[in-house]
Formats: sequence, C-alpha cells, structure tokens
Amino acid sequence: MQCTICKFDFEKVYGSIGKNKINVHRTKPLSEIKGNYIIDPINDLVHVCPNSHFYVRSKSAPYMIEEIKGMMNRN
Ligand SMILES: [Zn+2]
Repeated sequence: MQCTICKFDFEKVYGSIGKNKINVHRTKPLSEIKGNYIIDPINDLVHVCPNSHFYVRSKSAPYMIEEIKGMMNRN
C-alpha cells in the first residue's frame, strides 16, 4: 500500500510487517460534516504515510492532497 502523496511503500521498505499499514486521511474535515454523513471510502479517504499526513495537517484547514504534491514537485 503506497502513500498517495509521496508514494512511500511500507511493504517494500519494511517487508511483511509493512503490509496494509498506513495512515488514513479524511479529505472532508469533521468540522464541515453536518448531520448524518456517510463516509464514501473512495472519495473521502486517502492513504498517506505519517510524514505526508503531518504536512497535510500542518495548518488548521488541512492542505489538499494535490497542494502537498505540488509542493514536493517544486523541490
Ligand atoms: Zn507520504
């Protein structure tokens, strides 16, 4: 399973203990959800490594996944 942002693959690096271990980021913040909202796992959740997750959440209104990807590509 790869990080959506930086493509880090835990299983490739850590072997079998890295399989299926990754953080999940909600693209729709809880503060924007009103009432009974059913999470769409395809559109509302993305797999991210802890480092990328840290940067996505480094401001109060989290960065969009594509914003972080753009920052990485500039460097
Ligand atoms: Zn990452």
